[in-house]
Amino acid sequence: MIIPAYVARNARKYPNQEAVIDGSLRATWQQLDQHVNQFAEHLACDHNIKAGDRVCLVLPNNYAFIVAHFAIQRLGAIVAPINVKLTATELAYIFENAEASLVITCDLTSDQALKACGVSKLPSLVINDMPAHATENSSGRQFETLNEQAITESATLLYTSGTTGRPKGVLFDHKALLFVGMMFATEMHYGPQSRLLSLMPFTHSAPLNLSLVGGTLVGSTHVIAPTFTPDLLLGLVQKERTTHFFGAPVAYLLTAQHPEIAHADFSSMSHWIYGGGPLAGDHARRVQQTFRSDQFYCVYGLTEAGPTGSLLLPNEHTDKAGSVGQRAAAFTEIRVVNASGKIADIDEAGEIHIGGEGVMREYWHNEQATREIFTDDGWIRTGDIGVRDADGFYWVKDRIKDLIISGGVNVYPREVEDALASHPAVLEAAVIGVPHDEWGETVKACVVLRETIDEAELRTHVAERLADYKRPRVYAFMDELPHNANGKVLKHQLR
Ligand code: AMP
Ligand code: MG
Ligand code: MG
Repeated sequence: MIIPAYVARNARKYPNQEAVIDGSLRATWQQLDQHVNQFAEHLACDHNIKAGDRVCLVLPNNYAFIVAHFAIQRLGAIVAPINVKLTATELAYIFENAEASLVITCDLTSDQALKACGVSKLPSLVINDMPAHATENSSGRQFETLNEQAITESATLLYTSGTTGRPKGVLFDHKALLFVGMMFATEMHYGPQSRLLSLMPFTHSAPLNLSLVGGTLVGSTHVIAPTFTPDLLLGLVQKERTTHFFGAPVAYLLTAQHPEIAHADFSSMSHWIYGGGPLAGDHARRVQQTFRSDQFYCVYGLTEAGPTGSLLLPNEHTDKAGSVGQRAAAFTEIRVVNASGKIADIDEAGEIHIGGEGVMREYWHNEQATREIFTDDGWIRTGDIGVRDADGFYWVKDRIKDLIISGGVNVYPREVEDALASHPAVLEAAVIGVPHDEWGETVKACVVLRETIDEAELRTHVAERLADYKRPRVYAFMDELPHNANGKVLKHQLR
């Protein structure tokens, strides 16, 4: 199998270089390759896992996750990393949809997973000490890797967050992972000396395919921890001298509030990468100031596209912060298509499409959804409304599904959120449509403040920036917004 073959290749090229740092555990490429091999043997012999089977991981970012991920793929089986925050009912739905053969978990995350295994009558495997588990169960014989040419075999099944219905399984083959991984390694200048800090959950496509897979292709070191906290971010960057970090915008906003940030030594960091959601212009500038760096990269994409899409580069932040850049990433293309199916004019809104070899193969057991998301020429319909400006930069206006239609007029929540967020007292804002007798929907703002201000002052601030019909009619001040594990605001919960 292609992807785990790179673990073996790194073991030959860089045997004694660090592959994974997980707390006090430090594993070299040679050790990781050995553990992957031993664990693959264990899965095949003791759990009867065969090529094509689905194995679900309900694990945080830990060494067991990484070993299991590559071991499953090494058998030609499909790894399905599942969001650890889901309830037993939600997990059972996914386990059954995937027709999983086995669920792997650990004490930290097993509570709901084991309940769900009970409901779905599925075998589970609880691993709390990965190197020990792999080593103890090994017969010592060399496990045979499968055909390394099998590039079109299925590799990974990722479930969408399901904010608008049941989660769907997004299936990738080895070729897609290879392209997405190469794309990011190329764009972010990964190499064997890079030290990638992964604190966002590997159950999302960006940390998984861009960091874990991308870094592994070129032999970068993975520095991981089971959760994200600003403390861990500050601590690990300095202790492990990491070079790259990928985080959701909210991770940056929270870390910017850390009392120690002004004294943190960030000199090892060459790439601060954010994506998965917008970081409005003013916020982007404030984050850059707080982190005392101009090496910020914005990535735009979605799970179904690998995720690949476009990039906003550091030097472009000065004039275009808030946009998602002017070019698609390596091996990728992007376009905006209007309602008549033509490439949209400058500033004309349309749906963003993404094309390239890194996109998913299909939705798992869902032919209709697969037909709907692909265009005739094989591009992914993102479900995002976007425009391309006169300078060629793409702006994501909003999800088509989040659009508010008030009195027959379109209001893009993100535009209103940006106006709110441009007030220095606002930490985070989410804008939703709420039912209104006369207008159909009206605009509501849910706001988290970093310091107290009057609603009236915020209303004035917004009125200076937005036309009347876009201004929130209702304000709710909250302690925090509901986020999913990937840092996205859960708008259906707010509604
Ligand atoms: P997911 O499938 O969970 O990765 O979510 C993908 C969606 O997140 C996209 O369709 C966009 O709506 C949004 N998104 C991702 N990256 C960005 C970005 N850099 N700026 C704005 N929206 C983004
Ligand atoms: Mg999605
Ligand atoms: Mg999502």
